[in-house]
Amino acid sequence: MAGRRALKAVLIDLSGTLHIEDTAVPGAQDALNRLRQASVAVKFVTNTTKESKRILFERLQRLNFNLQENEIFTSLSAARSLLEQKQHRPLLLVEDSALEDFTGIETSEPNAVVIGLAPDHFNYSTLNKAFRMILDGAPLIAIHKARYYKRKDGLALGPGPFVTGLEYATDCKATVVGKPEKTFFTQALSDLGCSPSEAVMIGDDARDDVGGAQNSGMLGILVRTGELRNSQLLISSSAFSSTVVSLLEATFLATSSIIIFFSLLLTIFSPVMF
Ligand SMILES: [Mg+2]
Repeated sequence: MAGRRALKAVLIDLSGTLHIEDTAVPGAQDALNRLRQASVAVKFVTNTTKESKRILFERLQRLNFNLQENEIFTSLSAARSLLEQKQHRPLLLVEDSALEDFTGIETSEPNAVVIGLAPDHFNYSTLNKAFRMILDGAPLIAIHKARYYKRKDGLALGPGPFVTGLEYATDCKATVVGKPEKTFFTQALSDLGCSPSEAVMIGDDARDDVGGAQNSGMLGILVRTGELRNSQLLISSSAFSSTVVSLLEATFLATSSIIIFFSLLLTIFSPVMF
């Protein structure tokens, strides 16, 4: 931990960490309220691609989470930034409920493929259209490549297998814009006025949350509330100090002041920090 500076920002994952679909993780609202009492910036960073930021915000409001819409940074936002920067006209393989985050982006005569989690569009015809476009030179942009995610009825396929299928068929590599990409974390911190060494990431995905945060120079805290499986521990074993335990709210309940919060994270909860 040498060389780390005072904690100025906390990035928090959403799905699997604060909520699972329309249900809040028990105690998460209180934990967030506790964190709000500390002098630290908070941003919510998510790879959610099925819903626009507005829909996501409204869901979190219904679940009584204390947050503002402009505190949410999504992989859809990162994808839009890249499209604007490159001036691409995308074929958007995202759910209809996510389309409003691309309002104003030209989509006629598409020259790029953007793929997120789109269960309603993952059929042969649409994927074959994307395949042919990529063969003709269109770049493949993946909002993220998660293998799976947590639903109420169990784990479900993420966009990763579909992105990888297109990569395999076309012998190309996708540009990934969401977690765990370093650029995603850099963008998320960009308006908070702090460096990665002054921030910590809390999430339920060992690879995309903790691994990505570490590669970006941040600390990471893994919670067991979502999609964590033992296979993730094996995959990421080199980065783990020991077993992974925690409740998000348990870490937040320690926050009587940010100094105590950070020191407690470094001591009591050291097994879950990477
Ligand atoms: Mg998650």
